[in-house]
Amino acid sequence: MARHKKTFTVGWLYPDLMNIYGDRGNIITLLKRAEWRDYDARLLELGRGAAKRMDEVDVFFFGGGQDREQALVYEDLIEYKKAPLQRAIAAGAAVLAVCGGYQLLGDYYQTGEGRRFPGIGVIDVRTEAGKKRFIGDVVVDSSLVDLKPATLVGFENHSGRTYLGPKAKPLGKVRLGFGNNGEDHMEGCLQGTVIGTYLHGSLLPKNPQLADYLIKSAIRRRGITELERLDDTPELAAHARIVTRAGTPSS
Ligand code: GLN
Repeated sequence: MARHKKTFTVGWLYPDLMNIYGDRGNIITLLKRAEWRDYDARLLELGRGAAKRMDEVDVFFFGGGQDREQALVYEDLIEYKKAPLQRAIAAGAAVLAVCGGYQLLGDYYQTGEGRRFPGIGVIDVRTEAGKKRFIGDVVVDSSLVDLKPATLVGFENHSGRTYLGPKAKPLGKVRLGFGNNGEDHMEGCLQGTVIGTYLHGSLLPKNPQLADYLIKSAIRRRGITELERLDDTPELAAHARIVTRAGTPSS
């Protein structure tokens, strides 16, 4: 199907259930930054049940949620979203998944009570909850190529400890915070066009360079490699403030 050059579609998985700690800000940031580059930016809300038009999505967003919400969505994710999401990713769509969403894109998430929610395995990670919750500000040195600034800042609040398998690379190294599991000093994961992270806050308003990375990654399949620069002075000031407040040097 010929794709109209100037549309840009964000697909929001479970906006009613998987949306905490300001995750909505990521949706607003993606749509606005596409709009400011003269794209006809659209939002497709993908709640529970059979989902249509997932093949039109450029960037999927899957937010966080407590164990209760994850229990309400994991079966739907397997039954109705897994196959179209895998097709969309194979066709070059990008994905940003935060915390509870990140966990359910992996092999499984096991709660502190030992209940296991199978994931959809689009990223090679597994997660098991620990006793102590990891809460607080986070500063990460990202491994994404040419990301400027190379730091990512956000806020984490999770009991899950995530371990990466051989197919998944870390999104970056933790400077401040617990990250994936409080042991290997790594945060998040990168596998093809899929990014998983524990960074809430919301993430993208204070990390506009990552928003542009996702937009570029999704429109590359249309032969577009460049995005018009935007004036990110306020966003980067907020970013730098958290890096400085963390008592770590900015990069
Ligand atoms: N319920 C998951 C955990 O505790 C995810 C929490 C979240 O999305 N913030 O680890």
